Amino acid sequence: MAYDPNNIFARILRGEIPCKKVHETAHSLAFHDIQPVAPTHILVIPKGAYVDIEDFSAKAPDAEIADFIRAVGEVARMAGVVADGYRILANNGRDAHQTVPHLHVHIFGGMKLGAMLGHGEATQ
Ligand code: 5GP
Repeated sequence: MAYDPNNIFARILRGEIPCKKVHETAHSLAFHDIQPVAPTHILVIPKGAYVDIEDFSAKAPDAEIADFIRAVGEVARMAGVVADGYRILANNGRDAHQTVPHLHVHIFGGMKLGAMLGHGEATQ
């Protein structure tokens, strides 16, 4: 998937559309998902233009990767989900139903999260 500079998260980063910000660091931004599927549903994104984990892991400087991973942990602590547990998830590409072509990690918590995967169908 090519990076689309007009994707919704790029527009949030440029301040063109609002978000409910949770946390911001030098290289990362966290905000509430607009359609939460758990009591806690926060998205953490790098500020850099990376489509997915493949792109980020291949191209991002170590400082951006460290900042991003630390931001995920810090947001989980801030959200108060560490004691009871939480799930992080990053959809990458078609089979995972990634809908926004800017890397994002979902943080889900505040409920029993159930099975790790829904039922899909084999593609290979
Ligand atoms: P994906 O399916 O790509 O892993 O997840 C994309 C997520 O972005 C979805 O959970 C969706 O609700 C969220 N989302 C889409 N548009 C917006 C928006 O404009 N603002 C916020 N805060 N979240 C959005």
